Amino acid sequence: MEQTNVPHVMFLPLPAQGHIKPMMKLAELLNQAGSQVTFVNTDHNHDLLMSHTDLTSFHDRSPNFLFRSIPDGLRPGKARSLSNCKELLDTLQAVARPAFRQLLISTSMRPTCIIADGIMSFAAIDVAEELGIPVVTFRTFNASCTWTYFHLSKLVEAGEVPFPDGNLDKSITCIPGYENVLRIRDLPSICRVERADDPVLNFYMRETSTMTRASALILNTFHELEAPVISRLNSIFTKIYTIGPLHALYKSRTKDLMISQSNSSNSVRLWKEDKSCMTWLDSQPLRSVIYVSFGSLVNLTRLQTLEFLHGLVNSGKPFLWVVRPDLIVGESGIDPMELEMVTKERGFIVSWAPQEEVLAHPAVGGFLTHSGWNSTLESITAGVPMICWPQIADQQVNSRCVSEVWKIGFDMKDTCDRSTVEKLVRDLMDSNKREEIMKSTDEFARLANDSVKQGGSSCINLEKLIEDIRSMSP
Ligand code: UDP
Repeated sequence: MEQTNVPHVMFLPLPAQGHIKPMMKLAELLNQAGSQVTFVNTDHNHDLLMSHTDLTSFHDRSPNFLFRSIPDGLRPGKARSLSNCKELLDTLQAVARPAFRQLLISTSMRPTCIIADGIMSFAAIDVAEELGIPVVTFRTFNASCTWTYFHLSKLVEAGEVPFPDGNLDKSITCIPGYENVLRIRDLPSICRVERADDPVLNFYMRETSTMTRASALILNTFHELEAPVISRLNSIFTKIYTIGPLHALYKSRTKDLMISQSNSSNSVRLWKEDKSCMTWLDSQPLRSVIYVSFGSLVNLTRLQTLEFLHGLVNSGKPFLWVVRPDLIVGESGIDPMELEMVTKERGFIVSWAPQEEVLAHPAVGGFLTHSGWNSTLESITAGVPMICWPQIADQQVNSRCVSEVWKIGFDMKDTCDRSTVEKLVRDLMDSNKREEIMKSTDEFARLANDSVKQGGSSCINLEKLIEDIRSMSP
């Protein structure tokens, strides 16, 4: 393998939109700071990305940026959705490590370091150690949730996971700093299992332990939001780079470099955005609209869809709802066209929104979200308070932090009946509770935006990361 003084960083994200997006932002930032980048997707996501990306303008902006791909083990053409994510994890574990090893061996320019998703540690860490390449682990969850994952084995030992007695409101006792914050129902969704030897729970326990063999940890959060838990994580990783919100850091840095981001057609994405909602938002009063999106993976049953629909319509507030073609599942799913007919008076439906732009629009006053970490950070940065309906992975922890720690929204966990939806939308959009929530929402928005400016904590940490990668170069 050839070696030069230009750092070469290889990225390996988990094949999911919420993981690829922040890692891609970091990859572009490192590339703009002078690194050669190789971004490794699965074949399936590589094809999706290529079909929605204008590579010519991308490479004008980001030269020395290569895309490579490895198989995920599922047959081509098969859907990669929540319903088969367990199967995907199994096949990935079977094929990703040898494929990644082969890619590393055959690459003409030896990577200076690998930035691997914490949940891809099984594919990256052994191989990197064998080849003597440093690994930095990037956990796309926030610090609170990362800390929670480090206590999965303790939760099992303490008999708090699994929780067969079904008392979801019991406080958990064995996560330092979170004793009075997290209840059983706020634990990551992988804890909702029947048995302690559940393969998915054990996969995550293994991955969390394997990622500690990396030399440092990157988190898409900012110091001012999670300082106490970040210092607790320092007992596991001596080097932690908190460089979030990455989407805002990216905007701030590329503005400094005079790169026009107004034309988002040159960004890399898995789905095509429907911008028609921006014109609709222009016609709505200030802070009147509730934006509804459940991210890229969460599914709704027909019944849940109807509860949301009635709750939203009954709240009397205009709403913008992202209904992905695969959002509603079940035998008698709802035709999005039918949904559109019912919501026509007060709502607007798109299949995929330009979410960052939507949240920044002055007509948007609230966000009904599944509490994915990217969505939560984007909402915090835009100063938009949230109603949380968490479903999978880290979302249960995030929504608890939103409501109880940061006090920037309500947590609707484990229910979505129409009367609750209606009440919480009204409370969030125009009650005196809004005033209280807006105080902390405005404050965290200010802190988030300050952290990515020159001299801000995330900006400084990115500089440190760039410097540390340079110092790894031969
Ligand atoms: N997103 C988007 N348009 C949509 C819905 C979501 O661009 O209509 C983006 C959103 O901005 C966020 C990401 O998709 O960056 C979703 O990531 P998140 O971590 O919130 O949830 P996940 O999809 O991983 O469940």
